[in-house]
Amino acid sequence: MNVNKFYGLNELRKMYLDFFQSKGHLVMKSFSLIPHNDNSLLLINSGMAPLKPYFTKQEIPPCPRVTTCQKCIRTGDIENIGKTDRHGTFFEMLGNFSFGDYFKHEAIAWSWEFLTQVIGLEEDRLYPSVYVDDDEAFDIWNKEIGIPAERIFRFGKEDNFWEHGAGPCGPCSEIYYDRGEKYGCGKPDCTVGCDCDRYMEVWNNVFTQFENDGNGHYELLESKNIDTGMGLERLATIVQDVDSIFDVDTIKALREQVCQMAGVKYKENPKADVSIRIITDHIRSVTFMVSDGILPSNEGRGYVLRRLLRRAARHGRLLGITEKFLTTLSDTVIETSKDGYPELEEKKDFIFKIISEEEDKFNRTLDQGLGILKDMKAQILAGGGDVLSGDDAFKLYDTYGFPLDLTEEILEEDGITIDQEGFKAAMDRQRDMARKARKTTNYMGADVTVYQSIDPAVTSRFVGYEYTKYTSKISVLTTEEEIVEALVDGQNGTIIVDETPFYATSGGQEADTGIITWGDSVFAVKDTIKLSGGKIGHVGTVVKGMFKTGDSVELAIDEKKRSDTAKNHSATHLLQKALQMVLGSHVQQAGSSNNDKHLRFDFTHFSPMTADELKRVEDIVNDEIEANLPVLTKIMDLDEAKKTGAMALFGEKYDKDVRVVTMGDFSKELCGGTHVSNTGVIRAFKIVSEAGVAAGVRRIEALTGDGVFNYYAGLEQELKEAAHAAKAEPFALVKRIEALMDEVKTLSSENEKLKNKMAREALGDVMDQVQDIKGTALLAVKVDGVDMNGLMNLGDQLKARLGQGVIVLASEKDGKVNLLSMATDEAMKNGAHAGNLIKGIAKLVGGGGGGRPNMAQAGGKNPAGIDNALKEAAQVLESQLR
Ligand code: ATP
Ligand code: MG
Repeated sequence: MNVNKFYGLNELRKMYLDFFQSKGHLVMKSFSLIPHNDNSLLLINSGMAPLKPYFTKQEIPPCPRVTTCQKCIRTGDIENIGKTDRHGTFFEMLGNFSFGDYFKHEAIAWSWEFLTQVIGLEEDRLYPSVYVDDDEAFDIWNKEIGIPAERIFRFGKEDNFWEHGAGPCGPCSEIYYDRGEKYGCGKPDCTVGCDCDRYMEVWNNVFTQFENDGNGHYELLESKNIDTGMGLERLATIVQDVDSIFDVDTIKALREQVCQMAGVKYKENPKADVSIRIITDHIRSVTFMVSDGILPSNEGRGYVLRRLLRRAARHGRLLGITEKFLTTLSDTVIETSKDGYPELEEKKDFIFKIISEEEDKFNRTLDQGLGILKDMKAQILAGGGDVLSGDDAFKLYDTYGFPLDLTEEILEEDGITIDQEGFKAAMDRQRDMARKARKTTNYMGADVTVYQSIDPAVTSRFVGYEYTKYTSKISVLTTEEEIVEALVDGQNGTIIVDETPFYATSGGQEADTGIITWGDSVFAVKDTIKLSGGKIGHVGTVVKGMFKTGDSVELAIDEKKRSDTAKNHSATHLLQKALQMVLGSHVQQAGSSNNDKHLRFDFTHFSPMTADELKRVEDIVNDEIEANLPVLTKIMDLDEAKKTGAMALFGEKYDKDVRVVTMGDFSKELCGGTHVSNTGVIRAFKIVSEAGVAAGVRRIEALTGDGVFNYYAGLEQELKEAAHAAKAEPFALVKRIEALMDEVKTLSSENEKLKNKMAREALGDVMDQVQDIKGTALLAVKVDGVDMNGLMNLGDQLKARLGQGVIVLASEKDGKVNLLSMATDEAMKNGAHAGNLIKGIAKLVGGGGGGRPNMAQAGGKNPAGIDNALKEAAQVLESQLR
């Protein structure tokens, strides 16, 4: 053991955060795995990612020094999992950050102090590396810390320079730990920087000192930043002197549970070990992702979750686990991590439910996929081949979650191989498509807009909880392209003021619209948006006059729109509570949108709601409206608010102080929206639809206030018109419609009978036209105005009357000819063939056709040829008969 004391993973996390707190850092909670306003990332993959707005100065950080322990997911490392000692798809990243505050000297000195003094690692085992041109960092390590020059490694851009397109970037200094020869690859040139597991990278210090203009031109930044990242699991691996991150205290407990479930021992069979580690890792990712509100789906984050979960489930099968097992493991993840992440415990039931459903679903598709693979195999063998096409292998991989090695394994038994090249090509095609679908974004992952160039010191205060009209000063004006000093008649643009009563779209509530005036000048506000750094933008058009920066303007919102929107928003709160009462506590908000017309609420639930459930929900909400509950808002500390049981959203980034909206004792939610003062104001609530929108997510659309009355007025009008059309009173309409339907039924069947009768009559008495051809009866006749269906009916009737023989019917309808021929069994025995017969005569009516020996049909364009065709029928039949 090279350290004096054993520290657990949870302990190390605390030691790190405490250490940097003692160096003047603000400790912030881990951000959600879902990136906020950043479409360059699917999932948060470093401590720095959620802090980007502070680095770019679009938002002002709460403190110039921050430290976090951030949950991270790196799907790029998925192929490494189980194979290296140091990679997980999920891991926690410790980080200390400086926003224009301290720089290299402090960052390097503190990382050294923490590793050697606080943790007590042996100095001789630690090796720093610097960027090849970064003499400054080299000197700090060498002269200030006292590391001999030959122990400091210089690496190139690929390893030691952090950059991501245009934006802030800079050199890195990584710290490696020598775990000893037994972890080495044994190659003679194995040293720091080797890909093997001996020299393990623990900590990466990024010195953000340049700004890349996007064309490879680097400008020195005036205020330089520090961004560091150290894998908590890797630190624990070293401190606990164990083989890999899978042997660290908390993770080991999980790994042992996997072994126990599978009845296998760790470190007996290398292949099984990989499966064990994959399951151990993936279940951690899965548990944390679901706790942040990610649900399995076929795209984006949901797909990452699905893939990890299914991969874990499949490796379970490979190990011989036959029962469902993932929720049991998830429970262990929660138990060992809830210390640092209390949300895991809070969302426990929900997490289990999602995992369990998806595991069931996978077990079903797995069986299905095995069936399909069996068919593919049979087809290959039947065709005498021995290769499965790349496309088929990819289909199994993509649709049924079959990794290539599983397909390979199953086919091996029959000596079949996979077209690996073809598989790779199919995979590349799909990657290409995905790449094309991705949009180009800037460093922040947002579309580049004019708003980025606004001074970050500009902010707006929302005064719309108290006021619907307000006077305030214009701080910034922009057109769609640039910041301007004035906006004139006809121009589109954005106005930013110091204080505004306009509510910007957020929390599912649609923005206020209205007007801004200055003297005679009028600006029509079409939308209100939240901009970064606490600014509120009024987007619209100058319809009269002009506006200048510094003007004191009158802001007035559309009050009717605001009050109708408030009804729908407040009703949404009542609805959520009512759904939980009727369906259960698993109901969570998954999305919401409300405006002055209606409300839409998405929530987690697994089956369609019954009519009875919908009615109960509607009744509860209407009862609470009738109860005239006072609606109150209060600003509280987030933790305090959660303690009172206020409903909060998954994965939402809340400030420390939050606004809590209560409706009597009935509902309590964190919400920044504008609400009615009393539930009675809502007047009425009506659900108009309920449907599924994604796996496990349902959507309700509903109306309130005038919306309900307009809805019923529309229905009433419809009903009256329908009654009028049916010549009945509205309340007798059902009876009337039933009577009409009966009448229609009687008339239809009468009509059918008449049609048959008419067809028979059109034929007259045809039986005296029967000819004898070599002892076989032939009936070849013309009927008028009958379609092909009619001919078939007729043919069947004539056949019954004829007994045995051949029938040929021709009819002219709408200038076209229909021909039908039938032969009975007896006639066929003698050589008659209806198909050939019709082929022989169809050309005489300008058409073609054919069919089976017993029945055939044809069409033609020349009615004048009908008589000849019927004569010809006798000739053709004669030639057929023996
Ligand atoms: P490696 O080359 O070992 O994959 P990296 O260069 O990708 O590491 P960074 O992007 O610099 O790592 O991340 C900072 C720190 O986060 C690393 O020094 C390491 O301690 C940790 N880390 C990175 N990837 C993982 C992972 N997949 N699992 C666990 N820890 C990780
Ligand atoms: Mg890496």
